[in-house]
Amino acid sequence: MTAIHDAELSQPIARRGLMLVLSSPSGAGKSTIARTLLETDKRFALSVSVTTRKRRPSEIDGVHYHFIDVDEFHRLREAGALLEWAEVHGNFYGTPRAAAEKAMRSGQDMLFDIDWQGARQLQEQARSDIVSIFILPPSMKELRTRLLRRAEDSPATIAVRLQNARVEIQRWRDYDYVVVNEDLDQAFSSVRAIIAAERLRRDRRPGLFDFTAGLLAEEF
Ligand code: 5GP
Repeated sequence: MTAIHDAELSQPIARRGLMLVLSSPSGAGKSTIARTLLETDKRFALSVSVTTRKRRPSEIDGVHYHFIDVDEFHRLREAGALLEWAEVHGNFYGTPRAAAEKAMRSGQDMLFDIDWQGARQLQEQARSDIVSIFILPPSMKELRTRLLRRAEDSPATIAVRLQNARVEIQRWRDYDYVVVNEDLDQAFSSVRAIIAAERLRRDRRPGLFDFTAGLLAEEF
């Protein structure tokens, strides 16, 4: 009989979505993991960021990013329309507030592919909803190979990203989980395991109140 009087269980909380923050240096495999997750787990929606970066040939406006100019970025930022924002590799990026808040309120899980500066800002605002994962490359050599293989960025851009990777890698301590992407399938399984466990956390399951009350009311 004690469970039903548990302080945590006696206060059903509205189901809020899980905010999954994925960060890594460019080329560590984060985008592939994010894409696979969105394709295989329909409970997740991607938070589509705004950016002032130039669109890559493979990218679609409104799907991968909302591509905007610097004036528009400043306007959104000043209007408080961004949940977080940062300058990364010389471009501005930000998370539109309205879409994320709407999804969260409706219980939709959201994936945020953002850098450590953004992760920190989200953690300050919504600590209990956030699960953060940092993806590391197995080596700097492999990181470089992957950036060159992608061949969507200029050599100068790749050089900047490699240099910045050294700074970004040092942020691993800010995250709840760290996954080394030596093998993509293995790294993806690890991410799936983290999500599965996080969805089972007691405080993400308001339905437990009714469920346990039902169990206790049952005749046997
Ligand atoms: P890329 O230019 O390769 O698409 O992204 C560069 C970096 O910016 C990545 O680490 C990515 O996670 C990060 N990023 C993308 N969107 C956002 C955002 O809305 N906010 C923040 N803080 N970082 C972002």
